[in-house]
Amino acid sequence: MLMQPQTKTEARPPADPVARRRTFAIISHPDAGKTTLTEKLLLFGGAIQLAGEVKAKRNRVSTRSDWMGIEKERGISVVTSVMTFEYGDCVFNLLDTPGHEDFSEDTYRTLTAVDSAVMVIDAAKGIEARTRKLFEVCRLRDIPIVTFVNKLDREAREPFELLDEIEKTLALDVAPITWPIGRGRNFAGTYELGGNRVRRFDAADDAGTEAVSGFQDPLFDRLLTENGEADAWREEVELAEGGLKRFDLEAFREGHLSPVFFGSALRNFGVRDLIDGLARFAPPPRGQDADKRLVEPTEPRMTGFVFKIQANMDPNHRDRIAFMRVCSGRLHRGMKARLVRTAKPISLSAPQFFFAQDRAIADEAFAGDVVGIPNHGTLRIGDTLTEGEDLVFRGVPSFAPEILRRIKLTDAMKAKKLREALQQMGEEGVVQVFVPQDGSQAIVGVVGALQLDVLKERLSAEYGLPIDYDTTRFSVCRWVSSESEVELDKFVESHGSAMAKDLDGAPVFMATTAFSLRYEEERYPAVRFTDIKDYQ
Ligand code: GDP
Repeated sequence: MLMQPQTKTEARPPADPVARRRTFAIISHPDAGKTTLTEKLLLFGGAIQLAGEVKAKRNRVSTRSDWMGIEKERGISVVTSVMTFEYGDCVFNLLDTPGHEDFSEDTYRTLTAVDSAVMVIDAAKGIEARTRKLFEVCRLRDIPIVTFVNKLDREAREPFELLDEIEKTLALDVAPITWPIGRGRNFAGTYELGGNRVRRFDAADDAGTEAVSGFQDPLFDRLLTENGEADAWREEVELAEGGLKRFDLEAFREGHLSPVFFGSALRNFGVRDLIDGLARFAPPPRGQDADKRLVEPTEPRMTGFVFKIQANMDPNHRDRIAFMRVCSGRLHRGMKARLVRTAKPISLSAPQFFFAQDRAIADEAFAGDVVGIPNHGTLRIGDTLTEGEDLVFRGVPSFAPEILRRIKLTDAMKAKKLREALQQMGEEGVVQVFVPQDGSQAIVGVVGALQLDVLKERLSAEYGLPIDYDTTRFSVCRWVSSESEVELDKFVESHGSAMAKDLDGAPVFMATTAFSLRYEEERYPAVRFTDIKDYQ
């Protein structure tokens, strides 16, 4: 099926609150244009008045989101956040992922709370390292991907070459919905493949699309004026229409095929097609896997899981916000739910919704929505809240850290306080904490080095604990388990000084090199070494 001319009416899903929800994230390599695209999407949604606000936020000295010195100093957004906006008949929840070179597990965990993702690609660069990495995380959960090829207003690679690269490097089928008319200086707009409509680059943002008789239409001779350009373009389009895969909703929803849009976020071009595409194609909230069964979004009882904790969002109120994705039912202000881990009731007296720069009390929320729950350390990453039976959602994972450091405490009198603080930081997901079996000082592990700075700053600012880091001889770690307790005990006993426990008491093996890890894996075939652990 190809996309038909887009109007608001056609993008209309049923008015059912669950069917209206679209919860997604943008994945991209730094500089591909994620921030710019976010601004434009929010602008369509009427969530912000002026383009440029998202970026401007980074440079302002004191705003609510400038929650820490580090963010101010480096001008980057250390933490992920969520933005809710309406467009057409849909409610979009855009879960932001940090755009900086350095990133944390929060990025990964955020992807466990979305139902689809927009992959932004720089048209001059194609698939870059971070895009690939984030894509792989999406693939673990078969998250459907919509592709936006950005920066067509600049010199760009050939569309065929780009599409081929996506297919080959990501093993993902592609179905272009639009096709660029010229590139760079000659970029004139997009043609809707098979749809006989053109969106002109020189038209006003809201001008909509223009009907043509097909790619033979004389309009293209007027748009592509350089010698032979129009003919070459027609050949290209003929090949694209005839030879490339057509959009197939089922294949997309299963995560096998990505519809591709071309445009320029900076020039706000092609963004409307993208958002209409999300409204039409992107899935509403999916059923979520729990330990006992799959929980459907339409079930009446409220359930949800916490995928992220953010501290100090507002320097004036030292609050902690747990971000929870609602999985089913209706969450309403003032309701009580049960925190399954502790079997204690928790009152949702002030759940919050987030907008570009503000938050507001949420009166009600449905499956797919993300609400912030203020708390003082009660909630942990991976926690399930339920109004009905006890169950635990799976799949908010912990990833084996890529950097390990030993904590060096400058004031030995504060060892107990440090233990408590590390416990808290670990529960918030700032770092992973490993307590070595030999009784030596705790080791912290992170996926991105920036988290080390975040930990250091927070320990000092919030707990009055000045710390430093020592290197350790360990460079990789894995959770170890086995069907056979005897085998596991044997392994643990013979690796005493390389064993530690994580916050849940699960055994972790630390190796000095990837080579020695492989060596141990071969020597102990009955032991499983895993680099991803579900929170339970
Ligand atoms: P992020 O790191 O992915 O969030 O990327 P940004 O949105 O900050 O964009 C990186 C740079 O690319 C900025 O200088 C943007 O102005 C620029 N940029 C983004 N989109 C476009 C586009 O469509 N065309 C052009 N020419 N530049 C763009």
